[in-house]
Amino acid sequence: MKKLINFPYQNILVLGLARSGTAAAKTLLRNGKNVRINDMNAQENSQDVQELVSLGADVVLGSHPLTVLDNMELIVKNPGIPYDNPILQEAMKRKISIVTEIELAYQLVPGTLIGITGSNGKTTTTTLTTEMLQKSDQPVKVAGNIGIVATETAETLVEEETLVLELSSFQLQGTVTFRPNIAVILNVFSAHLDYHKTLENYKQAKYNIFKNQTEEDFLVYNAEDPAILDAVPLSKAKLIPFSVKRKVDNGAYADEDYVYFQGEKVIERRKIVLVGEHNLENILAAVSAAKLAGATNKGIEQVLAAFQGVKHRLQFIGKKAGRLFYNDSKATNMLATRKALSSFKQPVILLAGGLDRGDDFSELIPYLDNVKAMVCFGETKDKLIEAAQKANIEFVIAAENVEEAVKSAYDLSAEEDVILLSPACASWDQYATFEERGDIFIEAVHKLM
Ligand code: ADP
Repeated sequence: MKKLINFPYQNILVLGLARSGTAAAKTLLRNGKNVRINDMNAQENSQDVQELVSLGADVVLGSHPLTVLDNMELIVKNPGIPYDNPILQEAMKRKISIVTEIELAYQLVPGTLIGITGSNGKTTTTTLTTEMLQKSDQPVKVAGNIGIVATETAETLVEEETLVLELSSFQLQGTVTFRPNIAVILNVFSAHLDYHKTLENYKQAKYNIFKNQTEEDFLVYNAEDPAILDAVPLSKAKLIPFSVKRKVDNGAYADEDYVYFQGEKVIERRKIVLVGEHNLENILAAVSAAKLAGATNKGIEQVLAAFQGVKHRLQFIGKKAGRLFYNDSKATNMLATRKALSSFKQPVILLAGGLDRGDDFSELIPYLDNVKAMVCFGETKDKLIEAAQKANIEFVIAAENVEEAVKSAYDLSAEEDVILLSPACASWDQYATFEERGDIFIEAVHKLM
């Protein structure tokens, strides 16, 4: 278990408590740092706040006065707080470094670190990589954007253990020295522009995953993604490309029958349960990272022959009266919905809609060929209806919410149809999380059954 030794800051502001902020503050306090905490919503009498105070934190709750910055050398900010927040703007003026908790976690990792990022496929690839190492009897832990606070896990690691970290662009933007031994970058396309403002900023945040890598490290990347290819020449790491389209030297690819890594057959394709070209990308990325970290072909095969997908990601729910129900609530952008649609050959009834981030859904139109009906809900329903009409979809209707959409979809359906929730939007206009939205879909489907 590693301590914060080479961390050159003593006076640190933790901005935004939540789970990762609380964990970061505790770690810093345990390592003898002076910690100030500033949070808008946390309650003075909450257990966490009380504990932090008893550990010696200086706590400022309910507002963000600029004076919280006085004497501070570093800010550990919650990844959700955008950089145009006045506190952060002032911190930048005062040249105070701003990081996320991931930077802190990095300082605590004693062994091999695998970092995985991309606009889509992070959780699937992270889960696959971790399971492949587990089944190969390699000691491994998983954390990060997958819902496990990285600092908390990093603190428990011994040197032999590998840490697999799922990383969002928000987390990566706040890194300074962060350097994974194996970095994986799956794809980069326009997302989260409400936060990052420009595509260039978003890309730069993603590229942070490899900016500190050296010749000793590996960069696993999708050789078919033009935005990634632009950046790869900047990397100093050993390059490990993967491709679903062609044979690549030194990396992972597949032909009709096998998946290969560095020229060696790893697994027969027919043994793999996951469907969809996008999942083949995730598999190639995971195989590359896991093999580099010591996984065996046997371990990899055990995982891929059983893995049916992560919950809410093109998750098969069941069959009723010949209709197949899939929950892809995690598809919070158009690329994800396009991928889901291209995984099916049979007629699809698509349930879509949610938070309006200013997208225009015409990008979806070319992918709606086998969509026979679309049921739209949420803030974006009118925009989606407009796109569906332009695509000449036979039935296009509005619904109040997911539950109602399931009923309407079922009424419109015939045997052999796929009823697919793949919203192309975030859930926050109507549901707290995409998980809640997916659970409501599952419940509504079970009610039908
Ligand atoms: P993330 O953690 O990056 O959000 P997930 O693995 O949870 O990614 O998958 C979310 C959704 O993104 C999936 O349901 C699927 O629709 C889409 N997706 C998954 N992998 C890829 C990929 N490699 N390329 C494009 N889309 C993908």
